[in-house]
Amino acid sequence: MKARVTEDCIACGRCIEICPDVFEMGEDIAQVKVDEVPEEFQEATQEAVDECPTSAIVVEK
Ligand code: SF4
Repeated sequence: MKARVTEDCIACGRCIEICPDVFEMGEDIAQVKVDEVPEEFQEATQEAVDECPTSAIVVEK
């Protein structure tokens, strides 16, 4: 699984709270810090997708 954050991000920090192993705050918006999301963080990454208020997180299988 790969994940990325689009420019719809409003930097609320929710994804980072949910899964700091995958998300971090960049200059203006959140970013994904791993190339491939490890198996053990995929559930939390999906939770971040579901919780993101602006649907800014996109995942690809
Ligand atoms: S939850 Fe969504 S809007 Fe909030 S920081 Fe993460 S990507 Fe950005």
